[in-house]
Amino acid sequence: MQKKTSLNKRNQLFSQQIVQWYLEHGRHDLPWRKKVTPYRIWISEIMLQQTQVKTVIPYFKNFIKKFPSQKSLSEASEDQVLAAWSGLGFYRRARNIFATKEIIKNNYRNRFPNEFEHIIELPGIGKSTAGAIMSLAYLDPHPILDGNVKRVISRFLKKELDLLKEAELWKLSKEMVNRDDCFSYTQGIMDLGATICKPSNPSCLECPVNSQCLSAFNVSSAKKNKTASVKKVIEMNLSLILTKKSLLLVKNENDSIWKNLWLPFDSGSIKNHIKNFKLATTQKIKHELTHRTLEINLKTYSSLKELEIETNQTYKWIKKDRIEEYGLPKPISKVIKEL
Ligand code: SF4
Repeated sequence: MQKKTSLNKRNQLFSQQIVQWYLEHGRHDLPWRKKVTPYRIWISEIMLQQTQVKTVIPYFKNFIKKFPSQKSLSEASEDQVLAAWSGLGFYRRARNIFATKEIIKNNYRNRFPNEFEHIIELPGIGKSTAGAIMSLAYLDPHPILDGNVKRVISRFLKKELDLLKEAELWKLSKEMVNRDDCFSYTQGIMDLGATICKPSNPSCLECPVNSQCLSAFNVSSAKKNKTASVKKVIEMNLSLILTKKSLLLVKNENDSIWKNLWLPFDSGSIKNHIKNFKLATTQKIKHELTHRTLEINLKTYSSLKELEIETNQTYKWIKKDRIEEYGLPKPISKVIKEL
């Protein structure tokens, strides 16, 4: 019993110290923290799911500039949402944003739901993202459990992260939540994990919880993954056809990472038409994804006019000065910008 009381006290102190530290040292200038609405928190949390803060900032600002509110997003097409997401990667997140805003429009009269049970039902929102939205947008204390939080909590209690079960981590995370100021606590623990209790070389000296942390000044360097797998290389052969003012793109309807984005034609699928165009350039583009390397063999052809193509694929001649209205994968939009 004695042990449990002291553990509870340590957890309580942890959450108070995180709040205090956030108020003094947190990243208050992040754009989604300056003006807090459920809509802005939702968009930022989805963007942050697989991307670092510094990468997200310009994309968040751009997205909010295009769609400042739930209402403005409600009328957007999937193309427009993908275009606003272009370059950020993991496009499933953008497709989920589109699906979610449709549900919010149809079922919640364009108001972001405020109950955990409803939020977690939305596409792309798991328990941790729903918890963050509840704590940050509605000030209703809920635990979160991303990679940073797992690391901080497991180190604080000196528990081997690999051996902890997910359910146990959720229980610990729930115990730690500060019920008086869940906003500062939630932002604080995310900031602490990202800036102080980093995967390797944590800055224990600057850490607000170092007096209670059971691993303070004693964290072994992150183990290198000896069995790091070699990335799979995927080769793509694409043909980009251009007139002076437009380019020919096809909507990728395959269920792949680039689903519903616009790409040049697959060279094989357009080979019967290629005689109508003049080969201008050939280039190889290498693009690194998290788990794959793409090697794109891109042929550029010129055309005197916007010819019709006989195909059952959805294609469009897109004016060059309107290309930003379409969702394109980063390596393709980079090539097009350099044309
Ligand atoms: S004292 Fe060190 S190991 Fe413990 S939580 Fe802080 S930074 Fe992490």
